[in-house]
Amino acid sequence: MKMVIIGGGPAGRSAAMEAAQLDAEVTLIEKEHVGGTCLHEGCMVVCGFNDVVRFHEDSKNYQKLGIISQEHSIDYSEVTRGIKQITGKIANILKHETQQTGAELVMGEATIREGMVEVNGDEYPYDKLLIATGSRPFIPPVPGVAHASTYKNVLDWKEIPPNLNIVGSGVIATEFAGIFSSLGSKVKILCRNQFLSNIDPEFRDYIVKHLLPGVQIQENVQVQEITPEGASTSQGPVEGKVFLATGMIPNSEIVDGMVEIGSKKEIVVNEQMKTTNPSIYAAGDVVGTVGNTPVARREGVIAARNACDVSATMDYRLIPQSITLYYPVSFIDSGVENSEDEFDVRIRGSAGPGSFWHALDGETGFTKISSDLETSEITRVSSISPASRTSIPYLAKMVKDGYKTADFDDFIETHPSTDAIYKLLHFLSKYG
Ligand SMILES: Cc1cc2nc3c(=O)[nH]c(=O)nc-3n(C[C@H](O)[C@H](O)[C@H](O)COP(=O)(O)OP(=O)(O)OC[C@H]3O[C@@H](n4cnc5c(N)ncnc54)[C@H](O)[C@@H]3O)c2cc1C
Repeated sequence: MKMVIIGGGPAGRSAAMEAAQLDAEVTLIEKEHVGGTCLHEGCMVVCGFNDVVRFHEDSKNYQKLGIISQEHSIDYSEVTRGIKQITGKIANILKHETQQTGAELVMGEATIREGMVEVNGDEYPYDKLLIATGSRPFIPPVPGVAHASTYKNVLDWKEIPPNLNIVGSGVIATEFAGIFSSLGSKVKILCRNQFLSNIDPEFRDYIVKHLLPGVQIQENVQVQEITPEGASTSQGPVEGKVFLATGMIPNSEIVDGMVEIGSKKEIVVNEQMKTTNPSIYAAGDVVGTVGNTPVARREGVIAARNACDVSATMDYRLIPQSITLYYPVSFIDSGVENSEDEFDVRIRGSAGPGSFWHALDGETGFTKISSDLETSEITRVSSISPASRTSIPYLAKMVKDGYKTADFDDFIETHPSTDAIYKLLHFLSKYG
């Protein structure tokens, strides 16, 4: 079976490796760089900045506590050069890993014509085609929008902008606000509606107060025009660089007219990642589901299995999510409606690795668990702590596999740990 995959990001690469291991003859086509948005512009770039920012924040705290005396400065061009060098190195490893499974990798921009994929003038026939072309920033139709930047430009900036106006109210706006305010920019977030409207209000408040101190957040504001010097808005002018974090739009044009496309330009798929065309599958950001790397990878694997006649379905329940800030903000939600029997327990973070030196100022994070007192099911967990990004996915798996609060009575943790989830679960196993 010949399978052609367009897009070498997390979805396409995972699919290529899975299909090759299932003995398909796989060609993976990538137009820019293997690793996609995640490696070169998204997750790993934010991670690279955030590691520097955390060091910077820690060192300011140690200076305040009299532990270290030296002041330091950050060389932005070295940060961006280093990030590009590291992501380039990882891309080579990913290339090698993909090819080792037997998949053929072709660099070039793919187009589709009469049942054939064309790249660099060569034709690639297929039995099954997977579209994994990802998404790009949504650019709102505002006059002067060409003067604005997006996450695609930050590694090309020459310096830390003195003033940064981030238009948006979601995760990307939040993460870049955290990074640049810590690097020294005066940051404003301009939200069309409410800031982080999908997040538990207690956590939104914690983020605003403790993780984005100094960031000015303006809600219900419309950007009317963008200029090289700033922008005019419904609440007055703002000065400085304008950064758009106004959502993502799927790169689905490549199959226009060949498969059903939804109202947000997403490729419509079923739970087997099949499109309305029997030989075409789609996975990752281009199908417009969750918009994160682990989901894109899983969708790629599910698409590959079905293309290779191994039946598999995508399960979107209890997807763990995380926002990268000084402490990661992580959460899962069972999607079950709040009921009268839902009971919340909450606790401040503990002093431990990554938070010990914040015990004095009380900035150790915050964790909350909601459970159903009638059924003992864990319905929602949100946690701000150094450990939350690691512990939440395991909890998601356990909850999905049917673990209830009482099952955590014999849970043994490592110590010291900043994972506050187990403390709340111990409490709930006894009294919940
Ligand atoms: C700023 C930012 C931060 C993020 N942080 C996180 C995070 O911390 N954690 C997380 O899980 N997710 C994060 N994400 C989301 C994550 O990056 C995406 O969900 C993920 O990359 C989607 O994978 P994908 O394979 O669907 O698409 P992509 O990674 O976008 O890959 C698509 C690939 O297709 C290629 N392509 C497109 N058209 C063609 C064509 N015609 N021919 C050949 N190749 C083509 C592109 O060059 C690209 O390499 C972040 C995203 C952004 C923007």
